[in-house]
Amino acid sequence: MSNRTINLTDQLYDYMISVSLREPPLLERLRKETSANEMARMQISPEQGQFMAILIKLIGARRTLEIGVYTGYSCLCTALAMPGDGRIVACDTDEGWTDMAKRYWKEAGVADKIDLVLGPASKTLEKLIENGQEDSFDFAFIDADKENYDLYYEYCLRLVRPGGLIALDNVLWGGSVIDPSINDADTEAIRALNRKIYRDTRVDISLVPISDGLTIVMKQGL
Ligand code: SAM
Ligand code: CA
Repeated sequence: MSNRTINLTDQLYDYMISVSLREPPLLERLRKETSANEMARMQISPEQGQFMAILIKLIGARRTLEIGVYTGYSCLCTALAMPGDGRIVACDTDEGWTDMAKRYWKEAGVADKIDLVLGPASKTLEKLIENGQEDSFDFAFIDADKENYDLYYEYCLRLVRPGGLIALDNVLWGGSVIDPSINDADTEAIRALNRKIYRDTRVDISLVPISDGLTIVMKQGL
């Protein structure tokens, strides 16, 4: 026993999954089909999807932002966790990957909840602000190009309502954040944003060591 977060061995991880993961068969199928793709490691883990679904239910989210769709796993977790009138604005640049996502969203009966916008996410978010949508989203998931995370964070802070949540994925970046010999642009961007969020008095924060590290930020001002 210890008062720090436990190290997960493979066996302990398997145990955790065996007593907690309740992945619906369709999500499992999407994950298996995605695993044939060479970029499959980009997909969130199923336990992370389940965790985010609980957050979405807890705050009663009805409007969410998804920045980085890929084959649609996290977006489908979000859509399934929201009530029938829930709506997601989903941003990505890749038509091929998101075509696969759309297939699964349709099969799950949630396609009407998801407004997929193809194009740079910064432009999509900027347009939402121009259209007067500030303070109107309950939840945002940031999981696209790491160099633009800070930009997405700032846009999301404007678009999410006070008391709303922003979840940022890959904040531990496979452990690279603590390796001083790794100084590529993605790693530097994540390090800088982690430091910035730590000091950011506009939000409450928690870095959850699930998957590759997930920072949960709550916008203050309720
Ligand atoms: N959340 C997804 C899931 O659960 O499977 C994984 C997202 S993947 C890590 C990152 C995605 O961001 C890719 O699908 C990529 O096409 C997209 N992307 C990269 N640059 C982008 C940009 N500038 N604007 C919007 N999407 C972008
Ligand atoms: Ca990710």
